[in-house]
Amino acid sequence: MGTYGRFPIALTRGRGCYVWDEQGRRYLDFVAGIATCTLGHAHPAMVAAVTEQIQTLHHVSNLYYVPEQGALAQWLVDHSCADQVFFCNSGAEANEGAIKLARKYAHVKRGIANPLIITAKASFHGRTLATVTATGQPKYQQNFDPLMPGFAYVPYNDIDALETAIAELDANTPQVAAIMLEALQGEGGVCPGDTAYFQRVRQLCDQKGILLILDEVQVGMGRTGTLWGFENLGIEPDIFTSAKGLGGGIPIGALLCKASCAVFEPGDHASTFGGNPLACQVGLTVCQTLEAENLLANVQQRGDQLRLGLQRLVQQYPDWLTEVRGWGLINGLVLHPEAPVKSVDIVKAAMAEALLLVPAGPQVVRFVPPLIVSADQVQQALLAVEKAVALTVKCAQNS
Ligand SMILES: *Cc1c(COP(=O)(O)O)cnc(C)c1O
Repeated sequence: MGTYGRFPIALTRGRGCYVWDEQGRRYLDFVAGIATCTLGHAHPAMVAAVTEQIQTLHHVSNLYYVPEQGALAQWLVDHSCADQVFFCNSGAEANEGAIKLARKYAHVKRGIANPLIITAKASFHGRTLATVTATGQPKYQQNFDPLMPGFAYVPYNDIDALETAIAELDANTPQVAAIMLEALQGEGGVCPGDTAYFQRVRQLCDQKGILLILDEVQVGMGRTGTLWGFENLGIEPDIFTSAKGLGGGIPIGALLCKASCAVFEPGDHASTFGGNPLACQVGLTVCQTLEAENLLANVQQRGDQLRLGLQRLVQQYPDWLTEVRGWGLINGLVLHPEAPVKSVDIVKAAMAEALLLVPAGPQVVRFVPPLIVSADQVQQALLAVEKAVALTVKCAQNS
């Protein structure tokens, strides 16, 4: 339906951190299906997991216990603050589940008739009606009204604004059910959360019985150098969601929560495809490979290397670039607000240098390679982006 403005290449093959187009041209993939292909392309462990599981049993429905689902849930619970997991198929669907869980909790535990969820401006939570409403960016909402009731928005990383909003919304009777945030805003421009802010948000939630929901769809599963993005902030959520990196590119989403807010009962929520043996076995393989290949350490080291290189580039072009932001292997190169170019111009120039990048809004170029990326490949990417920036600047100066 023409919902994507596409780049003029078609990719037909991938291996590790490289992909090839129809003409056989090779690209270094620093998009990874938008922070999704955790283990890169055609990773032997994923190939084996998909092949074995499709030959054994791939789908049965949640009418029956699915051992692979139990095993993945156990891994996630063992490696996070969560006690329970619900599996679905995408990030938006996981966030829908989180919104439903928070609303039910507000109704049955706090007697709130019209629960409100506070989200942040510049956030991104998905494209379904509820999650596009949760998304604090009008450009995604335009022409889709009436939007879902029950949401309010505050600026990100601004504790005074949040306290004021809660005080106003709860003035007569408590109605704020949950606060839903990203530990680092991905689509909104690669903006890391502030530790002091998030610690105060956690305190506020504890004081007022408000649930803290963290959308870990983009930053979870090792992307930031810790397994979960919120570990960078020294806090724990009550509810969080995962998707993108969880299946390494095979569709899967997860809604996770602590026992204290696990209010779903049989019949409350469901998914036909969610939690099937194929997706769960692949998800478990991604998790086990993260551990076996010690990928969190790689994410930290390659992230440091990438940011150092990009910071040099910023120093080289102070009128064009302002800063590098990010954690681990989610990083943004930020364009100067007055620079006469947009992030997509640099992305296109990088593509000509055989490097795939993706914008995060008009002013930020995002770097989200597979977590298996090597030091050599980061070096290659830095050389390519240097050439791309030089060329973009030259073209803009000549026009
Ligand atoms: C991508 C993304 C989503 C939506 O995930 P889909 O799988 O596209 O539905 C939600 N939240 C965040 C933070 C994301 O980055």
